[in-house]
Amino acid sequence: MNRFPGNRRMHRAHVVPRVALLAAIIACLPGAAPQPFQPRRFAPWIDGTSATDPELQVQMIDPDTAVIRQSVLTNFEAPFLYLVFGKDKALLLDTGAGNVRIRPTVDRLITAWQQRHQGRRIRLIVAHSHSHGDHHAGDSEFSDRPDTTVVGLKPEEVAAAFGLSAWPEQTARLDLGGRAVEIIPTPGHEPAHIMVYDARTQLLFSGDMLYPGRLYVPAARFADFRASAERLAAFARTHPIKALLGAHIELTSTPGQDYAMEAPTHPAERPLPLSPAVIEELRMALARPGAAETIDRHADFILYPRPARPAP
Ligand SMILES: [Zn+2]
Ligand SMILES: [Zn+2]
Repeated sequence: MNRFPGNRRMHRAHVVPRVALLAAIIACLPGAAPQPFQPRRFAPWIDGTSATDPELQVQMIDPDTAVIRQSVLTNFEAPFLYLVFGKDKALLLDTGAGNVRIRPTVDRLITAWQQRHQGRRIRLIVAHSHSHGDHHAGDSEFSDRPDTTVVGLKPEEVAAAFGLSAWPEQTARLDLGGRAVEIIPTPGHEPAHIMVYDARTQLLFSGDMLYPGRLYVPAARFADFRASAERLAAFARTHPIKALLGAHIELTSTPGQDYAMEAPTHPAERPLPLSPAVIEELRMALARPGAAETIDRHADFILYPRPARPAP
């Protein structure tokens, strides 16, 4: 979502993340026919409808891939964070919207991983889907963490960190040790926006550019957003993608129906994963005449151009 600084409500429930070890979203048995897109492989996410919701919820996609959800009770943005382990490095994508401590949960996940790997030393890379405030509020928690790199928030800092000399046309491979992810610059929603493609799970961590909710596109950056959608569609034609996992859910289980802005709870949320078909759907929606001026409601996302703010 867009940047809305400030926290609406303090919520200090005891942190008891629920860890649900799931069959992989993308379970694909050897010799089995390709699995149809199945969006409901996660257990229900915390949605603020229960006062006993923990501040953070963790679900494992596989033993090396974690999804962390921040409770809407701590911040209406209720973002999703991703932690991806290779043998030598782990990538944390985003640090939350604030009003909650992220690092204890991340450290617990890393310690658990190390215990399964004979105490193996692993470096943590903290990066961001983009630099809006609801995705990096926890960065300071990691500034003094050993064996940790926190990537900066500006496009040039992101490009330098991943060795991207031709931002945004180029993609970069980040080797985590036996597992490489691809960093895909996708400016538009925000200038430093990236997506991360994981070839192992064939998941695309799609940030705020493409998730089940309102895809905000500032008028001044509409062309950038459209160009990113074109490059993303080209990437998708040459890389297998099982599902997109974005940074928020703002749609209800009714197709195309969103919650009110800053809704305090999210009853009956739409599932988090998006079908890869939405990539081409978004590209085509952006290419039609008038796309930059009209809110365009689709079943799985709402294209939400924002007019330039009047000068103060
Ligand atoms: Zn956001
Ligand atoms: Zn954003």
